[in-house]
Amino acid sequence: MNYDNILKEIYTEVSPLFDKGEIAQYIPALSTVPRNKFGMAVCTLDGETYTIGDAYEQFSIQSISKVYSLTLVFKLIGERLWKRVGKEPSGNPFNSLVQLEYEKGIPRNPLINAGSLVLTDILLSEFQEPKKEILNLVRKTSGNNAINYDNAVIASEKITGHRNFALAHFMQSFKNILNPVDDVLDVYFHHCGIAMNCVDLARSFLFLANHGIIPDSGEYVISKSEAKRINALMLTCGLYDESGDFAFRAGLPGKSGVGGGIVAVLPEKLCVSVWGPSLGPAGNSLAGIAALEHFTTLTGMSVF
Ligand code: GLU
Repeated sequence: MNYDNILKEIYTEVSPLFDKGEIAQYIPALSTVPRNKFGMAVCTLDGETYTIGDAYEQFSIQSISKVYSLTLVFKLIGERLWKRVGKEPSGNPFNSLVQLEYEKGIPRNPLINAGSLVLTDILLSEFQEPKKEILNLVRKTSGNNAINYDNAVIASEKITGHRNFALAHFMQSFKNILNPVDDVLDVYFHHCGIAMNCVDLARSFLFLANHGIIPDSGEYVISKSEAKRINALMLTCGLYDESGDFAFRAGLPGKSGVGGGIVAVLPEKLCVSVWGPSLGPAGNSLAGIAALEHFTTLTGMSVF
């Protein structure tokens, strides 16, 4: 497979989309990112890396971090997790409050904000230093010990994150948030504020393409069955209320963030990540979705 040529073709195809859509405004620190940034990286299980564009430039991973917290919580408490969060697509925006009212404070899935807040609450209950544990997982899975929190983005989101505070307080009223809301939000904003580049991101998801084992080190992260479940959740819920459309177009499990990143997993083969900061109405990168659709079309590879 000539990935270099494929990435070049994708870049040409998606560049007209850089002018379309909107950069996330509700987190002020994200609103200044230039809209013509675009990077893409393919990391294979046999250790090859292919890149194009701004693949080595860091960006804010935002909701992609929800997969790391899900991995940690699943490892810690296993199936008990499903008492506090569901596994169905929400069909609603990522920060929606409406479903929580009639579903009594149990979020639809762990990859929307409400679900991730519950998982963050569990991390706080289980770990002395949850922020350190999350960073350790990201560093270990990516093989890059320099990855860190971006404090400017975290501080910026703390000031404007009213909906997330509202979600956490609301769930606390249903006793599905057990720690103080300020503490939960502090850890949540931290994991959303991790800065990574496309190569780190694709590499760090390889354990999900490799049945729970980090290919480089051979280290066990989660079981084969847990990796299967996380991939299934990404396929059905990873792009909010655009998850069905993304599955239809790209045919891969993936997770997006409002920083414009998307990472997708092709089990037993590779991970592919893309960054394009301009977002469509559902909060997913416009160029990113198109690039991943082209990737599976041009390579002829998907989970289907
Ligand atoms: N930190 C963002 C929020 O909570 C994450 C949303 C996203 O990336 O989709 O609103």
